[in-house]
Amino acid sequence: LVLVGGGHAHVAVLKSFGMKPMTGVRITLISDRPVTPYSGMLPGLIAGHYPPAAAHIELRPLCHFAQARFFRSTLTGLDLEQRLARCDNRPPVSFDLVSIDTGSTPATAGVPGADQHALAIKPVHRFMERWEQITEAAADRREGPLRIVVVGGGAGGVELILSVRQRLVHKEPGPVPRHPRTPDVEFHLISDAPVLLPTHNRRVQAIFTRIFRERAIHAHLGQRAVTVEADAVHCDSGRSVPYDALIWVTTAAAPPWIAESGLATDAAGFLLVNDCLRSCSHPFVLAAGDVAAVRNHPRPKSGVFAVRQGPPLALNLRRLLGGREPRPFTPQRQALSLISTGDQRAVASRGPLALEGAWLWRVKDWIDRRWMRQYRELPEMHPSGFFAQANSLASTHAP
Ligand SMILES: Cc1cc2nc3c(=O)[nH]c(=O)nc-3n(C[C@H](O)[C@H](O)[C@H](O)COP(=O)(O)OP(=O)(O)OC[C@H]3O[C@@H](n4cnc5c(N)ncnc54)[C@H](O)[C@@H]3O)c2cc1C
Repeated sequence: LVLVGGGHAHVAVLKSFGMKPMTGVRITLISDRPVTPYSGMLPGLIAGHYPPAAAHIELRPLCHFAQARFFRSTLTGLDLEQRLARCDNRPPVSFDLVSIDTGSTPATAGVPGADQHALAIKPVHRFMERWEQITEAAADRREGPLRIVVVGGGAGGVELILSVRQRLVHKEPGPVPRHPRTPDVEFHLISDAPVLLPTHNRRVQAIFTRIFRERAIHAHLGQRAVTVEADAVHCDSGRSVPYDALIWVTTAAAPPWIAESGLATDAAGFLLVNDCLRSCSHPFVLAAGDVAAVRNHPRPKSGVFAVRQGPPLALNLRRLLGGREPRPFTPQRQALSLISTGDQRAVASRGPLALEGAWLWRVKDWIDRRWMRQYRELPEMHPSGFFAQANSLASTHAP
């Protein structure tokens, strides 16, 4: 069993195989990074409410717990004939069954200059490196305001700009008094939608419109970014928004290797899977999280859905490895979103529901920390589990 990417669903798979090892199965995780960020804590990390270690899961200890091999490498493609996972820095890894949970990156294709000049929120480690430079530039700024522009008006973009503002304007973490104007940093958000958070209800949209007004964040709505130059974003209406730092948080894009490998994809190029999270074209390939598109149950690209797919993915991998049929899984239709506002407050959104308050941030913080604890505080390994795996390693043909 080869797992590619240490995303939200695969950490659950690793934990499951650690808790209940399967004889005769060799597990390998291929991940480009030894740590994986937890999406729920990303805004709090950027705002300065959490240190980096609190918002990341260490994959090596988790692999050790699951008695899985860890290969630090980037998957570049799958050879579906030979059943090989091609990697950037090592020989291909052979598999009987492969599962993909590599996430997505914001779509910059089709916007000339965006790749070159904009800082994408993903991969998160690259964003965080550059983010440190932006915070230093803000501190050293002597002439005129520092202009931060975020492209993308969904939950990710809105949470991001509020977190960025929190960190740059209010250096101390925690709740802060709101100022109508911020003297040394200017904030702009560009979205092609006519409203903020277009997939949420009107009351949630109104709350964020009010928060943007209170914090002097300029929202350029109904404006599609069409080209990016070194110092300005140009929109289809002819409006240009100058920037010093440009952050890209638009809808998710799929990596090109999926289609190049010959796997079935949806119209946007994501790996098309059935209700059992199995590829619609290659049954020995499974996928979950942002990288997957469930044919019968399309859902937004969100960490919540990736997390929910973890247990059914683990179950179906076990069933397939044991020679049994996998079980179909129906994801919930709606998820409760707790959207943070940067200042240790949050807004709850589900269907027509909209609630706002500091207590919602405390609920979100509690949920997020509890989720993280599952992957940090690993139980002692059971000796029978260890021996089961040791036997399996001896009997498995190594690639
Ligand atoms: C600012 C922001 C805030 C967000 N806040 C929330 C939120 O509050 N709640 C929520 O539900 N969602 C949120 N999201 C969305 C959420 O981040 C994603 O939906 C979620 O991370 C998807 O999880 P995943 O398991 O598919 O992949 P990821 O969490 O992205 O994990 C993929 C893993 O695979 C690794 N990887 C990637 N490519 C390769 C490769 N080729 N080879 C090997 N390894 C690879 C990566 O390093 C990473 O460890 C937010 C997004 C943004 C941008």
